[in-house]
Amino acid sequence: MPDYDPNNIFAKIIRGELPCHKVYEDDRALVFLDIMPRAPGHALVIPKSPARNILDVAPDDLAHVAQIAQRVAKAGMRAFEADGVTVQQFNENAGGQVVFHLHVHVIPRKDGVPMKPAASYKEKPEVLAEQAKKLAAAMPSV
Ligand code: AMP
Repeated sequence: MPDYDPNNIFAKIIRGELPCHKVYEDDRALVFLDIMPRAPGHALVIPKSPARNILDVAPDDLAHVAQIAQRVAKAGMRAFEADGVTVQQFNENAGGQVVFHLHVHVIPRKDGVPMKPAASYKEKPEVLAEQAKKLAAAMPSV
């Protein structure tokens, strides 16, 4: 497996070198909206530590990301009046990974509404800003 690339897009977001529509942040994790959402409220949960994917992340950081993903899933259910949530995580090219900093997709879902194909639609920044606020407000404390 290649080494972690500190110049990947999500590393730049963590360092504040690129913008994001932030939903949640603590000392070990960051949550922001996917700019090409597969459904409204599609969020990405990432560790702040430099992990390429599930194959090299420290188990404690993975556990923290999973805990935050659960809170984001609950928030997505509330904020987007969802009927369910799809949680996805890809590893290496063969596993469907495109950005090589570990991330967990949390996607609110409505009954009978299929997800848009990956990378098929870039959402307007003003819509993402509004949705990030809504999701942040719905985050449970634990
Ligand atoms: P994957 O590595 O296959 O899980 O896909 C990477 C995901 O990151 C895709 O869903 C992209 O839409 C998303 N993405 C790429 N660049 C950005 C960005 N600057 N901000 C938010 N999401 C992004």
